[in-house]
Amino acid sequence: MSLVFDGNAAASTSAGSQKALRARNIDLVVGTLGIDGPQTQAMLARRTRLSAGTISSIVRELTEQRRVSARPTISGGRRAVEVALVPDGRVVVGVDVGRAHLQVMAMDTGRRTFGMRGTTLHSSHLPSDTLRIARQMVDEMLAESGVDRSDVVLCGVAVPASLNPVTGRVVQASVLQSWAGIDLVEATTRALDLPVVLENDANLGAIAHAGTGPFSGVRCLVFVKVGTGIGAGLAFDGKIYESASGIAGEIGHGQLIDGGEVCTCGNRGCLETVASTRRIVADFARIRPDSEVELDDVIAAVAAGDPAAIRLLHDAGAQIGRAIAPICNLLSPDVVVVGGPLARVGASLFDGIVQSTRQRSLSTATAHTRFVLSDLGDHAEVHGACLLALRRVITEGHARVSN
Ligand SMILES: [Zn+2]
Repeated sequence: MSLVFDGNAAASTSAGSQKALRARNIDLVVGTLGIDGPQTQAMLARRTRLSAGTISSIVRELTEQRRVSARPTISGGRRAVEVALVPDGRVVVGVDVGRAHLQVMAMDTGRRTFGMRGTTLHSSHLPSDTLRIARQMVDEMLAESGVDRSDVVLCGVAVPASLNPVTGRVVQASVLQSWAGIDLVEATTRALDLPVVLENDANLGAIAHAGTGPFSGVRCLVFVKVGTGIGAGLAFDGKIYESASGIAGEIGHGQLIDGGEVCTCGNRGCLETVASTRRIVADFARIRPDSEVELDDVIAAVAAGDPAAIRLLHDAGAQIGRAIAPICNLLSPDVVVVGGPLARVGASLFDGIVQSTRQRSLSTATAHTRFVLSDLGDHAEVHGACLLALRRVITEGHARVSN
């Protein structure tokens, strides 16, 4: 065997590898836009580690091919160019199953949301009934939006329970006890007749805020959902933190009161027994024994300036702060977002949480931390369900069922 130097072959190999490198870089840019959403060219350069010149040239090429759109914007006080994917016809659906509510929404690959709708459920709803209603709502939403079912490539489902990341089974369900133990992936796939990805609702609240909007991609974001249950989701660099057990974030079941009330989890004096909406409504009902009290009545009483309702929420916030303070010392997060139905009441609960957290943690740990109320309110979880599904679609390349 002899080695023969062939100048032409070497030149064509070099041109081929240049072409392959360019194709890889284009895939990297498209993937980054799909996973992290619309962003400036400067942000794209940082995330992909490509040069500003390469990004600029790729964005120009993709714009000509109508695969991305670029528009002028202001970032950090400077003129910049924001780049977004042009929707490619694929759609994802989000479904949020709560203790007493169900929400659905859709999102295209350009991250435009549409079709949001919701309904209330009775508090001990069964999986078979609820999933049948979910199927109906999804079908109505798609029909009204003019989307063919075959364009839906994945459905993200939010549940108020901890899930085993491997089996998808519920491992801790203090809120939806009738859902414990069933194979939810199988049940939701069959009921919705769509491929599904399931996730804990607080984790999806974290993704909704860390994957889009002003806190997109921050180093550490903590989302605290205050509802019938209290749970937290963690996002690092815009990605959900997932523990091997699926239990991470169950801050509602840390004991705060020695010898307190027995909790649904079997422990005594958990945070959920003193600060969940269930407890707040029960306490308000004790003060107003002559009327049927629902959460909306408490929220209305706070809005009307009722001192008892305001005190209940402030004290609940103070208890929640006791659980958030050690998280702040552990992680020194950039952002703590408070979400769930009580985000609507605004200051009373929120101020209680922030004062108590700051009082009980190192001031240096929270000096830079921004505490905010969720601007997505009750929709954070369904929004996060869509974003999770979309990220999977981009990274795994889900194709439409037809064509
Ligand atoms: Zn508990």
